[in-house]
Amino acid sequence: AGPGIDEARERLRALFGFDDFRGVQPQVVARVLAGRSTLAVMPTGAGKSLTYQLPAAMMEGTCVVVSPLIALMHDQLRAARANGIAAATLTSADADWRETIEAFRAGALDLLYVAPERASQPAFREMLASAPIALFAIDEAHCVSEWGHDFRPDYRQLRPLMDAFPHVPRLALTATADAHTRADILAQLGIPGDGLIVAGFDRPNIRYAIRHRDNLVRQIAELMRAEPGPGIVYAPTRAKVEKLAQQLGAASGRPVLPYHAGLEPGVRAANQAAFVESEDMVMVATIAFGMGIDKPDVRFVAHAGIPKSIEAYYQETGRAGRDGDPAQAVMLWGAGDFAQARQRLSEVPDDRRGSERARLDALAGLIETAGCRRAVLLRHFGEDPPDRCGNCDNCLDAPGVSDVTELARKLLSA
Ligand code: ADP
Ligand code: MG
Repeated sequence: AGPGIDEARERLRALFGFDDFRGVQPQVVARVLAGRSTLAVMPTGAGKSLTYQLPAAMMEGTCVVVSPLIALMHDQLRAARANGIAAATLTSADADWRETIEAFRAGALDLLYVAPERASQPAFREMLASAPIALFAIDEAHCVSEWGHDFRPDYRQLRPLMDAFPHVPRLALTATADAHTRADILAQLGIPGDGLIVAGFDRPNIRYAIRHRDNLVRQIAELMRAEPGPGIVYAPTRAKVEKLAQQLGAASGRPVLPYHAGLEPGVRAANQAAFVESEDMVMVATIAFGMGIDKPDVRFVAHAGIPKSIEAYYQETGRAGRDGDPAQAVMLWGAGDFAQARQRLSEVPDDRRGSERARLDALAGLIETAGCRRAVLLRHFGEDPPDRCGNCDNCLDAPGVSDVTELARKLLSA
C-alpha cells in the first residue's frame, strides 16, 4: 500500500503550512493516494489544486495536470514552486521546454502542467511513455462535456491519451457541474460512477438578491453606499464596463476601476493589483475578471445584466465573501437581456442549441422564482436544501419572515 491520509496530513503541514484539510479534500486525497480514479466537484475556492499537488509531491512519478488557460497555469506553477513542489509547464509560451522534457525524463518533476491540445500530439504521448506517471489531473473538467458551460473539443482527446496509460489513476476537478454534466464527465473521462465526490455547494454567508433593473446606476450606487467594502460589478460588454465605471465613480464618490480584455495589459494588471490591495475599491468588469484571483474580502458581486447560466452565476457570485463574512450577490436584470440571449441562441450550432436553451431556461427559473433563491441554486447542483434559507431576497421579503429577521437582528445587536 502507498502512503495514507495521516502521512498526507503531515505533508500538508510541512509543505503547505495548513493546519488541516478542508471539506472533502481528505476524501479526494485518500482516493488518489489509493490509485483510484475520481471526479471531485468542489466549489470555487474550496481548494481543488491541493488535491493533486499534495499527492503529486508524495507519489512516485510525475502528475500530469491538464489545465485550459496558460495564465492560470503560470499562477499555479508559482504557487506550487513556492511550496517546494517541483513543477513545470509545457506550453507554447515556454522557452525552456527542452529542460522540462529532460527533467520529466529524469523523474525530477512532481507536476507537469500542459494544455489540452498536447493530448493529441503523438510526440507528447511518446514523451509520457518515457518516465513514470503518477496521476492525470484534469482541471476544469466540465470542459470535456457539451453539457458543461465551456466545452473544449481538445478535452475529448484526453480519454484516448489516458487509455494508453491504463494503470495511471485520473483525477477530474470542476466547480461547476450539474447532475447531467457530472455523468457526462465520468463517461467521457472513463472514471467509474463510484468515483464521484461532491462537496457542499452552499455559501451561507452570501445573501442573494435578484431585482428588476429600473435605474442601474442608482441601484448599484445604493448598494455601494450600503456596502463600503470591495465589490465587483459584472457588465456584459467592454463599452458598458467603461461607461458604468465612470458613472458609478461619479455617483458614489468611491474608487472605481474598469477591467476588460480590451485594456492594455499593463493597465489591466495595474487595475487588478490595485483592487486586490484595496479595502474599498469597486471593479467594474467583464467576466474576464475574477478567474484565479485570490481576494477573500470581496463584500459584494453585482450583475448588471444576466449571467450566461446558473453555473456562471454561481461561479461569479462565489467570488464574494470567501472569508466567510457576510457578503451580497445582487443581480439586476431586464427583459432585454433575455431577448438578446435568445437572439444568440439562434446563432448556436444545431447540435448544441438544445443544451444552451435548457441552460437559459434554468437561469430564467432562478430569476422568476418567488421561492428561495438558494434552494433553486442548490437543487440545480443536485443537493436537497431546506425550502427557505432566510438569507435571500425572497426569504427575507416573505410575509412574516422579515419581521422575524428584524427582531433577530435587534436581539443579536442588543
Ligand atoms: P479552487 O481551485 O478549488 O478554486 P484553489 O485550489 O485555488 O481553489 O484554492 C483556493 C485557496 O484555498 C488557495 O489560496 C489555497 O492555498 C487555499 N487552501 C486550499 N486548501 C487549504 C487548506 N486545507 N487550508 C487552508 N487553505 C487552503
Ligand atoms: Mg482551481
